Amino acid sequence: MAAALTAARAGREVFLFERQSRVGRKLAATGNGRCNITNTGAAVNRYHGEDPEFVRPALEALPVADTLALFRGIGLLTREEYGGRVYPLSNSANSVTDALRFALEAEGVRLVSGDRVRALTRSGGGFAVTTESGARVEGEAAIVACGGLAGEKLGGGRDGYELLKSLGHTRTALYPALAQIATAPEFPRALKGVKADCAMRLVRGREVLAESSGEALFAETGVSGPAAFDLARRVSAEGGGLSLSLDLLRDYSFGEVLEHLRARVENAPQLTAGELFIGAAPNRLARMLAKYAGLKQDAPASSLDARALKSLANAAKNFALPVRGTEGFASAQVTAGGIRTSEFDPATMQSRLVPGLYACGEVLDIDGDCGGFNLQWAWSSGYLAGRLL
Ligand SMILES: Cc1cc2nc3c(=O)[nH]c(=O)nc-3n(C[C@H](O)[C@H](O)[C@H](O)COP(=O)(O)OP(=O)(O)OC[C@H]3O[C@@H](n4cnc5c(N)ncnc54)[C@H](O)[C@@H]3O)c2cc1C
Repeated sequence: MAAALTAARAGREVFLFERQSRVGRKLAATGNGRCNITNTGAAVNRYHGEDPEFVRPALEALPVADTLALFRGIGLLTREEYGGRVYPLSNSANSVTDALRFALEAEGVRLVSGDRVRALTRSGGGFAVTTESGARVEGEAAIVACGGLAGEKLGGGRDGYELLKSLGHTRTALYPALAQIATAPEFPRALKGVKADCAMRLVRGREVLAESSGEALFAETGVSGPAAFDLARRVSAEGGGLSLSLDLLRDYSFGEVLEHLRARVENAPQLTAGELFIGAAPNRLARMLAKYAGLKQDAPASSLDARALKSLANAAKNFALPVRGTEGFASAQVTAGGIRTSEFDPATMQSRLVPGLYACGEVLDIDGDCGGFNLQWAWSSGYLAGRLL
């Protein structure tokens, strides 16, 4: 959509093919329906792939401030929240899709939705698109913006990779990023729906492989939420023997937590083991920490010896769960890996193999951190591709 809008504004006649019944279906589901449209901290170090530097020219061509100005120009007002995350003021992702749709229509872009592009071939000096319904459209240039494998129900799929492969491009391995981390389910299942601020470490034995911090959301089969998402790409890449360690009281040292517990026992001996952390952690989590520590939840606090209190403090500081992998592409927000960026010119997004062919967004081997970075990549790379330089 960003590419089509840019090309149309430059006076080109543009056809936008969308295989789903309407454009921007995935967009409408982003950010839990609120659409985390960008992040004011968008910079090269928030992106991954064989060559993260590839994103630099696009981010310079359409930086965050210009992206927000572009959206304001098509009627969308936004607000910045914690961590530089930007959302529509309406708090509704539909505002973003509608603003884009209206803008595309106003610029005369021909939206061909509900029809899947089956083939993209060279034709004369340009390209021919053939769709499932048998339509054939020829044009001077083609921009492949088919996204990646993540979020299958929202339109994720392999078509973009296949279309580009048919024209000689190659891709790296694909794996889910920003996905739920699957762990031994006992504790997450019991805590399903509980959110907790924490520091998270991905460890193998004593080695810490990656760290993140922020919100964790316990789910039926593992741990989700931004802090988990940021480690998921590493889980996919590392294979077995991993565990996820949550520090659920990250602002307090182990000694301070222990001291807090001792004070609670002294001041409120009527509490049970399962109640000692109430006030410090969400109630269900507080109770579960006692279980994790191997204590009876209803054991009187006054009966807990020094060892029991240490186990309880350790449960809060090192809530470790064996990792089973990630939940895969269905639950992933983005695809790590994609069409090789070395085959495209980062200054134009044009193919180095096929003149007149462009690609942008998730189909390329670029994925961003959680927090609006993936959509910023889609806007910036789409804008650059749409200039058809
Ligand atoms: C649940 C979820 C929440 C997310 N939340 C956020 C967020 O808050 N912030 C953020 O920055 N990122 C978020 N992301 C990631 C972000 O949505 C994607 O990285 C981004 O949409 C990629 O943009 P794109 O244009 O490359 O691909 P897409 O948005 O996937 O668009 C590609 C389009 O091409 C269409 N298409 C594919 N093949 C064909 C074909 N053969 N013919 C015709 N049409 C075709 C698809 O139907 C699709 O509509 C989220 C992702 C998911 C799944």
